[in-house]
Amino acid sequence: MNTRINRREVLMLSGAAVGGLTLGGPASAWNEASPPPGLTQKNSRFQSLKPIRPDEPIGEREMRITFMGTSVIERRAQQRSSVFVELGNGESFVFDCGSGVVSNYVAMGVPWSRMSKVFLTHLHGDHTSDLTHVYCFGPQGDRKFPLYVWGPAQSGIRNPTYVPGDPGNPEYFDDGTIEFCKHFREMNRWHTESQSFVPTRFLSADGDGYDIFATELDWREGQATRTWSTSGTIANPSESNDHWTAYQCNGVRISYFPLLHDRNGSIGYRLDWLDEGLSMIFTGDTKPSWRLVHEAAAGNRPLDVLISEVVVDPEIWVVRQSGLTEADGARYFAGLKNAQAVQENSHTPQKALGYILRQLQDSQRAPRLAVATHFQASDDTISAAMADIRSWYAGPVTFATDLMVVRATRSSVVPYRAVVSDYSWSARFARGGDTYSPKYADDRSCNPYAPMAPLKQFDDVLLADAIAPEAYDPGGWQDVNNNGACQD
Ligand SMILES: [Zn+2]
Repeated sequence: MNTRINRREVLMLSGAAVGGLTLGGPASAWNEASPPPGLTQKNSRFQSLKPIRPDEPIGEREMRITFMGTSVIERRAQQRSSVFVELGNGESFVFDCGSGVVSNYVAMGVPWSRMSKVFLTHLHGDHTSDLTHVYCFGPQGDRKFPLYVWGPAQSGIRNPTYVPGDPGNPEYFDDGTIEFCKHFREMNRWHTESQSFVPTRFLSADGDGYDIFATELDWREGQATRTWSTSGTIANPSESNDHWTAYQCNGVRISYFPLLHDRNGSIGYRLDWLDEGLSMIFTGDTKPSWRLVHEAAAGNRPLDVLISEVVVDPEIWVVRQSGLTEADGARYFAGLKNAQAVQENSHTPQKALGYILRQLQDSQRAPRLAVATHFQASDDTISAAMADIRSWYAGPVTFATDLMVVRATRSSVVPYRAVVSDYSWSARFARGGDTYSPKYADDRSCNPYAPMAPLKQFDDVLLADAIAPEAYDPGGWQDVNNNGACQD
Protein backbone atom coordinates (compact mmCIF):
# COMPACT_ATOMS: atom_id res chain seq x y z
CA MET A 1 0.00 0.00 0.00
CA ASN A 2 1.17 3.48 -0.88
CA THR A 3 1.22 4.73 2.70
CA ARG A 4 3.56 2.00 3.80
CA ILE A 5 6.01 2.62 1.00
CA ASN A 6 6.03 6.32 1.63
CA ARG A 7 6.70 5.88 5.28
CA ARG A 8 9.52 3.47 4.56
CA GLU A 9 11.01 5.96 2.14
CA VAL A 10 10.98 8.62 4.83
CA LEU A 11 12.68 6.25 7.22
CA MET A 12 15.34 5.41 4.65
CA LEU A 13 15.97 9.09 4.07
CA SER A 14 16.23 9.52 7.82
CA GLY A 15 18.92 6.88 7.99
CA ALA A 16 20.87 8.71 5.31
CA ALA A 17 20.46 12.01 7.11
CA VAL A 18 21.64 10.50 10.35
CA GLY A 19 24.75 9.17 8.64
CA GLY A 20 25.53 12.54 7.16
CA LEU A 21 24.71 14.85 10.01
CA THR A 22 24.44 13.29 13.42
CA LEU A 23 27.27 10.82 13.12
CA GLY A 24 29.27 13.49 11.43
CA GLY A 25 32.03 11.69 9.59
CA PRO A 26 35.14 13.66 8.79
CA ALA A 27 34.58 17.39 8.42
CA SER A 28 35.98 17.24 4.91
CA ALA A 29 33.29 14.75 3.83
CA TRP A 30 31.01 17.42 2.46
CA ASN A 31 31.19 20.76 0.81
CA GLU A 32 28.60 23.34 -0.20
CA ALA A 33 28.21 21.77 -3.64
CA SER A 34 27.23 18.38 -2.22
CA PRO A 35 25.71 18.92 1.22
CA PRO A 36 24.65 15.97 3.36
CA PRO A 37 21.03 14.83 2.94
CA GLY A 38 19.78 16.69 6.01
CA LEU A 39 20.70 19.98 4.36
CA THR A 40 18.77 19.26 1.18
CA GLN A 41 15.33 19.24 2.81
CA LYS A 42 12.79 21.23 0.82
CA ASN A 43 9.17 22.17 0.98
CA SER A 44 8.33 22.24 -2.72
CA ARG A 45 4.61 22.56 -1.99
CA PHE A 46 5.19 25.85 -0.21
CA GLN A 47 7.71 27.08 -2.75
CA SER A 48 5.19 26.50 -5.54
CA LEU A 49 2.59 28.82 -4.01
CA LYS A 50 1.95 32.22 -5.51
CA PRO A 51 3.99 34.90 -3.72
CA ILE A 52 2.44 37.68 -1.69
CA ARG A 53 4.04 40.73 -0.12
CA PRO A 54 3.51 41.42 3.57
CA ASP A 55 2.05 44.84 2.77
CA GLU A 56 -0.59 43.55 0.34
CA PRO A 57 -3.74 45.35 1.54
CA ILE A 58 -6.47 43.13 2.91
CA GLY A 59 -9.75 43.15 1.00
CA GLU A 60 -12.80 44.59 2.74
CA ARG A 61 -14.48 41.20 2.56
CA GLU A 62 -11.38 39.10 3.12
CA MET A 63 -10.37 36.88 6.03
CA ARG A 64 -6.59 36.50 5.96
CA ILE A 65 -4.83 33.79 7.93
CA THR A 66 -1.05 33.96 8.28
CA PHE A 67 0.84 31.04 9.74
CA MET A 68 3.49 32.60 12.00
CA GLY A 69 4.61 29.36 13.63
CA THR A 70 3.84 25.85 12.47
CA SER A 71 6.13 23.31 14.13
CA VAL A 72 5.92 21.21 17.24
CA ILE A 73 9.71 21.08 17.65
CA GLU A 74 12.39 23.76 17.49
CA ARG A 75 13.66 24.25 13.94
CA ARG A 76 14.93 27.24 11.98
CA ALA A 77 12.50 26.91 9.09
CA GLN A 78 9.45 26.71 11.33
CA GLN A 79 8.81 28.45 14.63
CA ARG A 80 6.45 26.95 17.18
CA SER A 81 2.71 27.61 17.19
CA SER A 82 0.87 30.76 16.15
CA VAL A 83 -1.84 31.70 13.70
CA PHE A 84 -2.70 35.32 12.92
CA VAL A 85 -6.19 36.09 11.65
CA GLU A 86 -7.08 39.44 10.14
CA LEU A 87 -10.48 40.51 8.90
CA GLY A 88 -11.38 43.15 6.35
CA ASN A 89 -13.31 45.03 9.06
CA GLY A 90 -10.05 45.86 10.87
CA GLU A 91 -10.18 43.15 13.55
CA SER A 92 -7.14 40.96 14.16
CA PHE A 93 -6.51 38.02 16.45
CA VAL A 94 -3.50 36.01 17.59
CA PHE A 95 -4.13 32.32 18.21
CA ASP A 96 -1.31 30.88 20.32
CA CYS A 97 2.05 32.57 20.61
CA GLY A 98 4.79 29.97 20.73
CA SER A 99 8.52 30.46 20.88
CA GLY A 100 10.13 32.26 17.97
CA VAL A 101 6.96 33.45 16.27
CA VAL A 102 7.37 37.18 16.93
CA SER A 103 10.18 37.38 14.38
CA ASN A 104 7.64 36.21 11.78
CA TYR A 105 5.08 38.77 12.94
CA VAL A 106 7.74 41.44 12.52
CA ALA A 107 8.73 40.12 9.08
CA MET A 108 5.05 40.28 8.09
CA GLY A 109 4.89 43.91 9.20
CA VAL A 110 2.32 43.31 11.94
CA PRO A 111 2.39 46.19 14.42
CA TRP A 112 2.09 45.50 18.15
CA SER A 113 -1.28 47.23 18.28
CA ARG A 114 -2.73 44.51 16.05
CA MET A 115 -1.44 41.74 18.35
CA SER A 116 -3.45 42.81 21.39
CA LYS A 117 -6.01 39.96 21.46
CA VAL A 118 -4.34 36.63 22.15
CA PHE A 119 -6.27 33.36 22.36
CA LEU A 120 -4.35 30.48 23.93
CA THR A 121 -5.47 26.92 23.20
CA HIS A 122 -3.48 25.57 26.14
CA LEU A 123 -0.57 26.60 28.29
CA HIS A 124 2.28 24.57 26.81
CA GLY A 125 5.48 26.54 26.23
CA ASP A 126 5.47 25.96 22.48
CA HIS A 127 2.14 27.82 22.39
CA THR A 128 2.87 30.59 24.89
CA SER A 129 6.59 31.49 25.07
CA ASP A 130 6.59 34.52 22.79
CA LEU A 131 3.77 36.12 24.73
CA THR A 132 6.69 37.54 26.70
CA HIS A 133 7.77 39.59 23.68
CA VAL A 134 4.26 40.66 22.77
CA TYR A 135 3.69 41.84 26.32
CA CYS A 136 7.09 43.38 27.04
CA PHE A 137 7.67 45.26 23.80
CA GLY A 138 4.16 46.20 22.67
CA PRO A 139 4.07 49.28 24.94
CA GLN A 140 7.41 50.42 23.51
CA GLY A 141 5.64 50.45 20.15
CA ASP A 142 2.02 51.25 19.34
CA ARG A 143 0.24 49.01 21.87
CA LYS A 144 0.08 51.59 24.61
CA PHE A 145 -3.12 49.97 25.82
CA PRO A 146 -3.78 46.66 27.64
CA LEU A 147 -3.02 43.18 26.40
CA TYR A 148 -6.04 40.85 26.28
CA VAL A 149 -5.49 37.15 26.86
CA TRP A 150 -7.98 34.30 26.63
CA GLY A 151 -7.30 30.72 27.69
CA PRO A 152 -8.59 27.68 29.53
CA ALA A 153 -9.66 27.51 33.17
CA GLN A 154 -7.85 25.26 35.58
CA SER A 155 -7.66 21.53 34.91
CA GLY A 156 -9.14 20.27 38.16
CA ILE A 157 -6.67 17.38 38.13
CA ARG A 158 -5.67 16.19 41.59
CA ASN A 159 -1.97 16.42 42.37
CA PRO A 160 -0.85 12.79 42.81
CA THR A 161 2.03 13.74 45.12
CA TYR A 162 -0.13 15.86 47.43
CA VAL A 163 0.98 15.73 51.06
CA PRO A 164 -1.39 17.31 53.62
CA GLY A 165 0.18 20.28 55.34
CA ASP A 166 2.74 21.07 52.62
CA PRO A 167 1.73 24.46 51.16
CA GLY A 168 4.24 24.02 48.32
CA ASN A 169 2.50 20.85 47.19
CA PRO A 170 -1.26 21.49 47.26
CA GLU A 171 -3.96 18.97 46.46
CA TYR A 172 -4.95 21.00 43.38
CA PHE A 173 -2.73 23.41 41.49
CA ASP A 174 -4.32 26.51 40.06
CA ASP A 175 -3.06 25.82 36.53
CA GLY A 176 -5.57 28.04 34.71
CA THR A 177 -5.03 31.07 32.51
CA ILE A 178 -5.74 33.72 35.14
CA GLU A 179 -3.10 32.34 37.49
CA PHE A 180 -0.76 32.03 34.48
CA CYS A 181 -1.33 35.71 33.70
CA LYS A 182 -0.85 36.82 37.30
CA HIS A 183 2.52 35.10 37.53
CA PHE A 184 3.42 36.15 34.00
CA ARG A 185 2.77 39.76 34.95
CA GLU A 186 5.03 39.52 38.00
CA MET A 187 7.68 37.50 36.18
CA ASN A 188 8.06 40.49 33.87
CA ARG A 189 8.11 43.08 36.63
CA TRP A 190 11.76 44.12 36.19
CA HIS A 191 11.16 44.50 32.48
CA THR A 192 8.00 46.55 32.74
CA GLU A 193 9.26 48.88 35.46
CA SER A 194 12.60 49.37 33.76
CA GLN A 195 10.97 50.35 30.47
CA SER A 196 8.38 52.63 32.03
CA PHE A 197 10.63 55.70 31.79
CA VAL A 198 9.01 56.27 28.39
CA PRO A 199 5.25 56.69 27.86
CA THR A 200 3.36 53.39 27.87
CA ARG A 201 -0.26 54.53 27.80
CA PHE A 202 -2.33 56.46 25.27
CA LEU A 203 -4.65 59.11 26.71
CA SER A 204 -7.46 57.36 24.85
CA ALA A 205 -6.72 53.93 26.42
CA ASP A 206 -8.54 52.46 29.41
CA GLY A 207 -5.32 51.01 30.77
CA ASP A 208 -1.56 50.97 30.45
CA GLY A 209 0.36 48.92 27.89
CA TYR A 210 1.65 46.80 30.76
CA ASP A 211 -1.88 46.05 31.97
CA ILE A 212 -3.36 42.64 31.23
CA PHE A 213 -7.01 41.67 30.97
CA ALA A 214 -7.39 37.88 31.17
CA THR A 215 -10.46 35.83 30.39
CA GLU A 216 -10.59 32.26 31.62
CA LEU A 217 -12.76 29.83 29.67
CA ASP A 218 -14.65 27.00 31.32
CA TRP A 219 -13.60 24.02 29.21
CA ARG A 220 -16.01 21.63 30.97
CA GLU A 221 -19.39 23.35 30.78
CA GLY A 222 -18.80 26.48 28.69
CA GLN A 223 -20.28 28.48 31.57
CA ALA A 224 -19.83 32.17 32.23
CA THR A 225 -16.23 33.19 31.84
CA ARG A 226 -14.06 34.42 34.72
CA THR A 227 -12.00 37.56 34.20
CA TRP A 228 -9.09 39.20 35.96
CA SER A 229 -7.17 42.36 35.21
CA THR A 230 -4.29 44.32 36.58
CA SER A 231 -6.48 47.43 36.77
CA GLY A 232 -10.15 48.03 37.50
CA THR A 233 -10.42 50.61 34.71
CA ILE A 234 -10.17 48.12 31.84
CA ALA A 235 -13.39 47.21 30.04
CA ASN A 236 -14.15 43.64 29.02
CA PRO A 237 -13.47 43.52 25.26
CA SER A 238 -16.25 41.00 24.69
CA GLU A 239 -19.85 42.14 24.49
CA SER A 240 -21.22 38.68 25.20
CA ASN A 241 -20.80 36.16 27.95
CA ASP A 242 -22.88 33.43 26.26
CA HIS A 243 -22.10 29.76 26.73
CA TRP A 244 -18.95 28.69 24.89
CA THR A 245 -18.31 32.26 23.74
CA ALA A 246 -14.85 33.73 24.30
CA TYR A 247 -15.32 36.97 22.37
CA GLN A 248 -18.10 38.76 20.57
CA CYS A 249 -17.69 42.23 19.11
CA ASN A 250 -17.75 44.03 15.75
CA GLY A 251 -19.71 41.27 14.06
CA VAL A 252 -17.18 38.62 15.08
CA ARG A 253 -17.80 35.70 17.40
CA ILE A 254 -15.02 33.50 18.72
CA SER A 255 -16.34 30.39 20.38
CA TYR A 256 -14.36 27.62 22.00
CA PHE A 257 -14.72 23.93 22.68
CA PRO A 258 -12.83 21.35 24.76
CA LEU A 259 -10.33 19.03 23.13
CA LEU A 260 -8.06 16.22 24.25
CA HIS A 261 -4.44 17.17 24.68
CA ASP A 262 -2.25 16.05 27.56
CA ARG A 263 -4.52 17.14 30.40
CA ASN A 264 -7.91 18.73 31.01
CA GLY A 265 -8.06 22.27 29.71
CA SER A 266 -6.91 22.22 26.08
CA ILE A 267 -9.44 23.96 23.86
CA GLY A 268 -9.98 24.76 20.20
CA TYR A 269 -11.39 28.02 18.83
CA ARG A 270 -13.90 28.73 16.10
CA LEU A 271 -14.06 32.22 14.62
CA ASP A 272 -17.19 33.32 12.78
CA TRP A 273 -17.14 36.63 10.96
CA LEU A 274 -20.90 36.89 11.11
CA ASP A 275 -21.23 39.84 8.71
CA GLU A 276 -19.44 37.99 5.92
CA GLY A 277 -20.36 34.42 6.78
CA LEU A 278 -16.68 33.46 6.89
CA SER A 279 -15.35 31.04 9.47
CA MET A 280 -12.27 29.21 10.65
CA ILE A 281 -11.31 26.71 13.32
CA PHE A 282 -7.94 26.35 14.99
CA THR A 283 -7.60 23.19 17.02
CA GLY A 284 -4.39 23.90 18.85
CA ASP A 285 -3.24 20.44 19.89
CA THR A 286 -5.55 17.49 20.28
CA LYS A 287 -6.20 13.82 19.94
CA PRO A 288 -8.85 13.00 17.35
CA SER A 289 -12.12 14.30 18.80
CA TRP A 290 -15.77 14.00 17.84
CA ARG A 291 -16.26 17.40 19.43
CA LEU A 292 -14.06 18.87 16.70
CA VAL A 293 -16.14 17.11 14.03
CA HIS A 294 -19.27 18.51 15.62
CA GLU A 295 -17.93 22.08 15.84
CA ALA A 296 -16.58 21.99 12.29
CA ALA A 297 -19.95 20.81 11.00
CA ALA A 298 -21.90 23.57 12.77
CA GLY A 299 -23.31 26.59 10.96
CA ASN A 300 -25.37 27.13 7.83
CA ARG A 301 -22.56 26.49 5.43
CA PRO A 302 -19.28 24.59 5.45
CA LEU A 303 -16.38 25.96 7.40
CA ASP A 304 -14.02 28.02 5.25
CA VAL A 305 -10.72 27.01 6.81
CA LEU A 306 -10.13 24.12 9.22
CA ILE A 307 -6.67 24.36 10.78
CA SER A 308 -5.84 21.10 12.51
CA GLU A 309 -2.73 19.84 14.11
CA VAL A 310 -1.32 16.60 12.73
CA VAL A 311 1.63 14.52 13.86
CA VAL A 312 4.15 12.43 11.93
CA ASP A 313 4.11 8.69 12.28
CA PRO A 314 5.80 7.49 15.51
CA GLU A 315 8.43 5.53 13.56
CA ILE A 316 9.43 8.67 11.65
CA TRP A 317 9.38 10.67 14.85
CA VAL A 318 11.72 8.37 16.74
CA VAL A 319 14.18 7.88 13.87
CA ARG A 320 14.42 11.60 13.12
CA GLN A 321 14.37 12.74 16.69
CA SER A 322 16.76 10.22 18.24
CA GLY A 323 18.85 8.99 15.32
CA LEU A 324 18.05 5.44 16.43
CA THR A 325 16.92 2.78 13.95
CA GLU A 326 15.57 -0.72 14.31
CA ALA A 327 19.17 -1.95 14.21
CA ASP A 328 19.65 -0.31 17.63
CA GLY A 329 17.29 -2.86 19.13
CA ALA A 330 15.88 -2.23 22.61
CA ARG A 331 16.82 1.45 22.72
CA TYR A 332 14.98 2.05 19.44
CA PHE A 333 11.89 0.19 20.62
CA ALA A 334 11.88 2.10 23.91
CA GLY A 335 12.02 5.34 21.91
CA LEU A 336 9.23 4.13 19.66
CA LYS A 337 7.05 3.23 22.65
CA ASN A 338 7.66 6.72 24.04
CA ALA A 339 6.68 8.37 20.73
CA GLN A 340 3.55 6.22 20.61
CA ALA A 341 2.67 7.19 24.18
CA VAL A 342 3.02 10.88 23.29
CA GLN A 343 0.64 10.45 20.35
CA GLU A 344 -1.84 8.56 22.47
CA ASN A 345 -1.74 11.37 25.02
CA SER A 346 -1.67 14.35 22.73
CA HIS A 347 -1.94 14.37 18.97
CA THR A 348 -3.86 13.73 15.75
CA PRO A 349 -2.36 10.97 13.59
CA GLN A 350 -2.32 11.54 9.86
CA LYS A 351 -5.00 8.96 9.09
CA ALA A 352 -7.18 10.41 11.84
CA LEU A 353 -7.14 13.82 10.15
CA GLY A 354 -8.23 12.14 6.90
CA TYR A 355 -10.96 10.31 8.80
CA ILE A 356 -12.22 13.52 10.44
CA LEU A 357 -12.36 15.28 7.08
CA ARG A 358 -14.23 12.31 5.64
CA GLN A 359 -16.85 12.55 8.40
CA LEU A 360 -17.37 16.21 7.52
CA GLN A 361 -17.62 15.41 3.84
CA ASP A 362 -20.18 12.71 4.52
CA SER A 363 -22.37 15.29 6.24
CA GLN A 364 -21.89 17.88 3.44
CA ARG A 365 -19.67 19.92 5.69
CA ALA A 366 -16.22 19.39 4.21
CA PRO A 367 -14.20 22.59 4.85
CA ARG A 368 -13.34 24.68 1.82
CA LEU A 369 -9.69 24.23 2.82
CA ALA A 370 -8.12 22.02 5.47
CA VAL A 371 -4.68 23.03 6.71
CA ALA A 372 -2.47 20.65 8.65
CA THR A 373 -0.07 22.35 11.02
CA HIS A 374 2.12 21.74 14.11
CA PHE A 375 3.96 19.43 11.73
CA GLN A 376 7.55 19.19 10.49
CA ALA A 377 6.70 20.08 6.92
CA SER A 378 9.13 19.00 4.19
CA ASP A 379 8.65 17.09 0.96
CA ASP A 380 9.18 13.66 2.49
CA THR A 381 7.02 14.07 5.59
CA ILE A 382 4.27 15.85 3.64
CA SER A 383 4.21 13.10 1.04
CA ALA A 384 3.86 10.37 3.67
CA ALA A 385 1.20 12.31 5.59
CA MET A 386 -0.77 13.16 2.47
CA ALA A 387 -0.89 9.50 1.51
CA ASP A 388 -2.45 8.73 4.90
CA ILE A 389 -4.94 11.58 4.65
CA ARG A 390 -5.86 10.62 1.08
CA SER A 391 -6.70 7.10 2.23
CA TRP A 392 -9.85 8.74 3.66
CA TYR A 393 -10.38 12.10 1.99
CA ALA A 394 -9.91 13.58 -1.48
CA GLY A 395 -10.89 17.22 -0.79
CA PRO A 396 -8.66 20.31 -0.55
CA VAL A 397 -5.88 19.85 2.03
CA THR A 398 -2.59 21.62 2.44
CA PHE A 399 0.26 21.73 4.95
CA ALA A 400 1.21 24.90 6.75
CA THR A 401 4.68 26.19 7.07
CA ASP A 402 5.80 29.56 8.40
CA LEU A 403 4.64 32.53 6.31
CA MET A 404 1.96 30.66 4.44
CA VAL A 405 -0.93 33.09 3.98
CA VAL A 406 -4.48 31.93 3.28
CA ARG A 407 -6.80 34.51 1.76
CA ALA A 408 -10.46 33.57 2.13
CA THR A 409 -13.49 35.31 0.67
CA ARG A 410 -16.92 34.01 -0.21
CA SER A 411 -15.64 33.30 -3.72
CA SER A 412 -12.26 31.70 -3.06
CA VAL A 413 -9.84 30.28 -0.49
CA VAL A 414 -6.26 30.47 -1.73
CA PRO A 415 -2.93 29.79 0.01
CA TYR A 416 0.04 32.06 -0.79
CA ARG A 417 3.70 32.20 0.13
CA ALA A 418 4.74 35.46 1.79
CA VAL A 419 8.02 36.89 0.58
CA VAL A 420 9.67 38.82 3.40
CA SER A 421 12.96 40.35 4.37
CA ASP A 422 15.16 38.43 6.78
CA TYR A 423 16.35 41.82 8.02
CA SER A 424 13.08 43.62 8.67
CA TRP A 425 12.67 46.12 11.48
CA SER A 426 9.58 46.40 13.62
CA ALA A 427 6.39 47.29 11.81
CA ARG A 428 5.25 50.86 11.33
CA PHE A 429 2.87 52.03 14.00
CA ALA A 430 -0.78 51.60 13.11
CA ARG A 431 -2.00 53.46 16.16
CA GLY A 432 -0.83 56.71 17.69
CA GLY A 433 -2.02 59.57 19.83
CA ASP A 434 -1.15 61.58 22.89
CA THR A 435 0.18 59.70 25.86
CA TYR A 436 0.23 59.98 29.62
CA SER A 437 3.52 60.88 31.24
CA PRO A 438 5.68 57.85 31.88
CA LYS A 439 5.41 56.07 35.23
CA TYR A 440 9.02 57.09 35.92
CA ALA A 441 8.83 60.74 34.88
CA ASP A 442 11.13 63.70 35.32
CA ASP A 443 9.43 67.00 34.51
CA ARG A 444 12.24 69.31 35.61
CA SER A 445 13.05 71.88 32.94
CA CYS A 446 16.73 70.94 33.14
CA ASN A 447 15.90 67.42 31.89
CA PRO A 448 16.27 67.54 28.09
CA TYR A 449 14.17 64.36 27.72
CA ALA A 450 11.30 65.47 29.97
CA PRO A 451 8.93 63.94 30.83
CA MET A 452 10.96 60.81 30.03
CA ALA A 453 13.45 59.92 32.73
CA PRO A 454 16.22 57.78 31.26
CA LEU A 455 18.43 57.99 34.34
CA LYS A 456 15.83 57.76 37.05
CA GLN A 457 16.23 54.08 37.86
CA PHE A 458 19.94 54.15 38.65
CA ASP A 459 21.43 54.65 42.09
CA ASP A 460 23.98 57.44 42.42
CA VAL A 461 26.62 54.82 43.10
CA LEU A 462 26.09 53.47 39.58
CA LEU A 463 25.82 56.89 37.94
CA ALA A 464 29.16 57.81 39.46
CA ASP A 465 30.69 55.20 37.16
CA ALA A 466 29.08 56.55 33.97
CA ILE A 467 31.67 57.73 31.47
CA ALA A 468 30.88 61.35 30.61
CA PRO A 469 30.01 61.88 26.91
CA GLU A 470 32.46 64.78 26.71
CA ALA A 471 35.20 62.17 27.10
CA TYR A 472 34.28 60.06 24.04
CA ASP A 473 32.18 62.40 21.91
CA PRO A 474 32.81 66.05 22.78
CA GLY A 475 30.06 68.19 21.31
CA GLY A 476 27.99 65.08 20.44
CA TRP A 477 24.28 65.00 21.23
CA GLN A 478 24.73 63.40 24.64
CA ASP A 479 27.36 65.92 25.59
CA VAL A 480 25.12 68.77 24.45
CA ASN A 481 22.24 67.25 26.41
CA ASN A 482 24.50 67.01 29.45
CA ASN A 483 24.00 63.23 29.41
CA GLY A 484 20.38 63.81 30.43
CA ALA A 485 21.34 64.71 33.98
CA CYS A 486 20.11 67.81 35.72
CA GLN A 487 22.65 69.85 37.61
CA ASP A 488 20.93 70.10 40.93
ZN1 LIG B 1 0.72 21.16 23.46
